Amino acid sequence: MSQALENLLSEERKFEPSPEFVAQANARPGIHEEAEADYLGFWQKQALSRITWHTAPTQVLDDSNPPFFKWFADGELNVSYNCLDRHLPDHGDQVAYHWVGEPGDTRTLTYQELHSEVCRFANGLKSLGLGKGDRVAIYMGMVPELPVAMLACARLGLVHSVVFGGFSSDALSSRILDAAARVVITQDGAWRGGNVVPLKANADIALKGTPGVEHVIVLRRTDHGVDMTEDRDIWWHDLVEGQGTESEPVILNAEDPLYILYTSGTTGRPKGIVHTQGGYLTAIVTTHDYVFDLKPDTDVYWCGADIGWVTGHSYIVYGPLSNRTTSVMYEGAPNFPDFDRLWQIIEDHKVTIFYTAPTAIRTFMKWGDQHVTKHDLSSLRLIGTVGEPINPEAWIWYQQTIGGGACPVVDTWWQTETGAIMITPLPGITPTKPGSATIPFPGIFADVVDEEGNSVPLGGGGYLVLTRPWPALARTIYGDDQRFVDTYWSRFPERYFPGDGAKRDEEGYYWLLGRVDDIMLVSGHNISTTEVESALVSHVSVAEAAVVGRRDELTGQAIAAFVTLRGDVVGDANLLAELRDHVAHTLGPIAKPKSIVFTDDLPKTRSGKIMRRLLQDISENRHLGDVTTLANEAVVTEIAAKASTADDN
Ligand code: ATP
Ligand code: MG
Repeated sequence: MSQALENLLSEERKFEPSPEFVAQANARPGIHEEAEADYLGFWQKQALSRITWHTAPTQVLDDSNPPFFKWFADGELNVSYNCLDRHLPDHGDQVAYHWVGEPGDTRTLTYQELHSEVCRFANGLKSLGLGKGDRVAIYMGMVPELPVAMLACARLGLVHSVVFGGFSSDALSSRILDAAARVVITQDGAWRGGNVVPLKANADIALKGTPGVEHVIVLRRTDHGVDMTEDRDIWWHDLVEGQGTESEPVILNAEDPLYILYTSGTTGRPKGIVHTQGGYLTAIVTTHDYVFDLKPDTDVYWCGADIGWVTGHSYIVYGPLSNRTTSVMYEGAPNFPDFDRLWQIIEDHKVTIFYTAPTAIRTFMKWGDQHVTKHDLSSLRLIGTVGEPINPEAWIWYQQTIGGGACPVVDTWWQTETGAIMITPLPGITPTKPGSATIPFPGIFADVVDEEGNSVPLGGGGYLVLTRPWPALARTIYGDDQRFVDTYWSRFPERYFPGDGAKRDEEGYYWLLGRVDDIMLVSGHNISTTEVESALVSHVSVAEAAVVGRRDELTGQAIAAFVTLRGDVVGDANLLAELRDHVAHTLGPIAKPKSIVFTDDLPKTRSGKIMRRLLQDISENRHLGDVTTLANEAVVTEIAAKASTADDN
């Protein structure tokens, strides 16, 4: 069999870049070909031209010990210097962050001010006796002090491990232990949806099991009163009191670790992904420039992710700052105090570039267009997405309703482990197709292979692999080299396997089909969840859908669907029949869901991704496994009750 995964969905729409966009685009025609012809030369050129090195590297790729690759290994630099100091002579007054607090307070930080804050905090960290290589856990909300803390660590060569502020004490505790952090940086509380998330209190519980932590630094934000442990806990403002606004950046080797970040935990026990300095920075400044077509003098850029995920590390902090970007950063919930908060911010700050996730886009669709259309979003000139496959209809909605029909849409495929965007359109060059992340970034090499590792011809589906190392590739899983080898490099020898399925169309465009663990086997056909979900979402009544394969005596697995409807649409037996026919009509009878449950919400991870594993447990009436990584635990019980009464139809 030449293909491992059925190709059922055909999407014919295609959008050419507008002549106006083409004329001003950062990416010039021929860039893919140039990188293809001399891949090491391409990355070397990016490294030397985009980064300020203390010692310029003479080496490019060291592949003497695969899969532990090194890049620019004899180079020396400091990442915080690249993000801050080098901009000060000419652009110290440029805004680095327009920060918007959830309760309505705001702060504007210029590059000069950010530099001073970072230096003062770095001096504070030094006064605690921290030095190069020490690990620091950061458990904060979306406040300006979060990038300040990260950059201060980078300045001193401390390795930060940012733990998403929505995680529980248990998650924090295990991450502190895994990295053996000496210090924890947190805040009294974070604002979320009008409520205080008690970060310090959560940290106190976590710290009961982490005897290695010497100090806890606490930022005052919500001022609701917290317990401070003497000799261990210190207020941020006390730590920086009297500290100077200059701090010499420590010169680091390109391969020294910059940070550890645990994957978001959709598929199992989180992995401490290690990223280093020079290669990582090279790849994120390059991708940030080309993929977002960044114009540092005029753009107002907003990546709506949380800094607790890799998207925030690469595309809120290190990439944008190195590229001297003016960014918007928002603290709170998208529906606080109202459903139009994000659109209000775009209008207020005249945001030109906006980057968000499909889960958010589908939520906006569900809330209804009226919240969007009452705002002037005409400042936007480019919009992007990351995090999950985007259903073609959600892509079109995003393009039309948020992008006003005129903005290029960049659907970017990548993951914590890849560090930087891997498969993506280049705006101004790559024609886009709704639902396709299009083609590999210049200097990135991918393939789609079958079970045996043979390349699947165009038109077929299978396993996505990356065939050559790239500069921002994770160096290992912290403390577990063997798990790094086993997880990513064992399934297909000498190729990196990210765990995702994909198909390629006749033009070589990549269509991501979700995780291979989720693929369904129905009557001998391997069917991706993504295609069936996209077919459901293409029905006018549907906002969001999740499908799983459930054991079936006749067909091996049967397709069980969970559907959230748009706006006020009511799910009844007629709609149910209509949806099943709609899928059969769109993809073929083989993909027709056997059962459909209407639900107001779907179980999602804290990063907003659909947790299909749980839906499968529900469909097969199994005891539910671990639900603690869920953002919305209650929904599981609700769906389980409905599913048990849903007839096969
Ligand atoms: P874990 O690895 O712990 O299970 P996770 O994979 O959800 O968690 P991330 O690294 O944040 O953690 O997510 C990367 C994954 O998200 C990719 O492997 C892919 O499955 C999905 N993804 C990201 N961007 C896209 C995209 N544009 N199109 C399709 N899928 C995407
Ligand atoms: Mg993953």
